[in-house]
Amino acid sequence: MSTIMENTESRTCGTCTLCCRLPDIDHFDKPANAWCSHCVEGQGCSIYAERPSLCRDFLCLWRTDDSLPPEWDPKISKMMIYEQGPQITVLADPDHPELWRSEPYRSQLESWATKAESSGGYVIVFCGEEVFKI
Ligand code: SF4
Ligand code: SF4
Repeated sequence: MSTIMENTESRTCGTCTLCCRLPDIDHFDKPANAWCSHCVEGQGCSIYAERPSLCRDFLCLWRTDDSLPPEWDPKISKMMIYEQGPQITVLADPDHPELWRSEPYRSQLESWATKAESSGGYVIVFCGEEVFKI
């Protein structure tokens, strides 16, 4: 959850700040889809050196899976994606509510859902107040 994470992976967060806005973060009493009070939009975390471990440790799927093609860059897809066991969770930016339903995203989400189903998983999309299970 930062725009300036260590470059131990080949991909970096760059100017993305989606995970400082889309998820709810109990540690900061932050609701979903609201900016963390420590985030400076387009710049990053103002408490970077002291950010909590939950921010230090989090990497979205874009950061951990080099096989994801360029359109899955959260800055382009407007989606923050992470795996929880067999479940794939998608937090879609409510400012772009139709993007996750469009191609190539929809087909890929359905493909992931089909694959996850074999191990009891699924894809779940949160977009604003709406939740969709694929
Ligand atoms: S959503 Fe991914 S790319 Fe964007 S800031 Fe979070 S970890 Fe980095
Ligand atoms: S503390 Fe920093 S890295 Fe963590 S959510 Fe807030 S702005 Fe993002």
